[in-house]
Amino acid sequence: MRKIQFFLFFFIIILICPPTLSAGDTDDFVSLRESMVDRQIAAMGIEDPRVLEAMRKVPRHLFVPERYRALSYRDHPLPIGEDQTISQPYIVAFMTEALNLRPEDRVLEIGTGSGYQAAILAELVKEVYTIEIIEKLGKRARQTLDTLGYKNIWVKIGDGYKGWPENAPFDAIIVTCAPEQIPEALVRQLDEGGRMIIPVGRQGTVQKLVRAVKKKGRIVAKDVMYVRFVPMVKGRD
Ligand code: SAH
Repeated sequence: MRKIQFFLFFFIIILICPPTLSAGDTDDFVSLRESMVDRQIAAMGIEDPRVLEAMRKVPRHLFVPERYRALSYRDHPLPIGEDQTISQPYIVAFMTEALNLRPEDRVLEIGTGSGYQAAILAELVKEVYTIEIIEKLGKRARQTLDTLGYKNIWVKIGDGYKGWPENAPFDAIIVTCAPEQIPEALVRQLDEGGRMIIPVGRQGTVQKLVRAVKKKGRIVAKDVMYVRFVPMVKGRD
């Protein structure tokens, strides 16, 4: 009888205590990541094996503030400071898959944020160029990516509306903040046959996630889902 009470006590404690994991709890994070991919990503229709592998590999918990680490593999976005968020894992996987990436590709990302999406891209392509307008976030992302040993990601602090002309054209462009229209400079910097995925719409409204391909110099676009992203803010100059 005592034994049953003892187990019951522990069972209740496990039920009422939220999971608290430390950064060093690697095995736990690996299994959280596995189940994130199985239940929230593969089960929801993402099929590209390279994308699934990248999502299994990149330690998402190291891209979020320490107090949110235990929540980092759940099916929702999380705050990363400066009023910005890291996207929900499914959205990261969906947008990545939509770019049809090849190992030799060079990709531009607008909205570095935590650097997580850049790391996922870096697992799949040759070079990743990413632009962040908030200096503090850009520097922190660079630090995280350096610590993890990524050598094929370049982070720039600047205004994404201008793109990164010195390194254009890009095979693919991913925008993780929402402008009201597709920025012209980004269309110019996309290579012929290049793919773009971008949320478009006004703040406070539901935005459309648009997948576009550049054909004969023009954008051929298709709405693929409704989303909610932070705004793509205009630079000061
Ligand atoms: N991809 C990120 C999440 C992006 S949140 C990740 O994986 O964590 C969107 C980011 O876009 C924010 O960090 C925000 O500061 C940035 N942003 C907003 N407007 C921008 C602009 N004009 N140029 C570059 N970055 C911008």
